[in-house]
Amino acid sequence: QPTDLRALVAEIVARYQDAMLAKSQDLQVRLDDLPERLEVDPQLVRQALMNLVENAIKYTGDSGHITIAGEVTADRLRLSVADTGPGIPLEHQARIFERFYRVDTARSRLVGGTGLGLAIVKHSAALHGGSVHLESRMGRGSRFELVLPLPPEGSLGR
Ligand code: ATP
Ligand code: MG
Repeated sequence: QPTDLRALVAEIVARYQDAMLAKSQDLQVRLDDLPERLEVDPQLVRQALMNLVENAIKYTGDSGHITIAGEVTADRLRLSVADTGPGIPLEHQARIFERFYRVDTARSRLVGGTGLGLAIVKHSAALHGGSVHLESRMGRGSRFELVLPLPPEGSLGR
């Protein structure tokens, strides 16, 4: 049955409200252009968004901005989580989705973690015929985009 993405994102935002408040970070949600309901696996989207939002909060400093945005283009759902954090060096960008891989910075060591979050996002996106992409510039921030296929328009379930 189709998923109400706005409700799902609201649930995730509520879950991380305290963590963001503690760092004086603000969060913007831009899902206005999405249809009411979408034929995607809610478990996958929830898990992926949680991992991405958790990273955004964790690696972005105090008073940073985080944006969750979504759009549908060409039978694909594109969900992104962007932050104004430190960014990820180009030489690490290709490896960041590998299990246990962490960019070795003082910040990473300090915040802890196992390096599994992004590997899980990539793996489960792939299982659903989707993918995950990273765009980042040092000192500017990072933007992760989860792309998931939707049933073609006119087919059952859309
Ligand atoms: P875990 O998710 O298992 O708790 P983790 O956060 O270290 O641990 P990943 O989520 O896979 O693991 O992220 C891998 C590495 O990528 C992180 O250690 C960090 O160095 C870098 N990284 C991930 N997201 C961001 C981000 N939004 N900004 C800067 N660096 C990031
Ligand atoms: Mg993580």
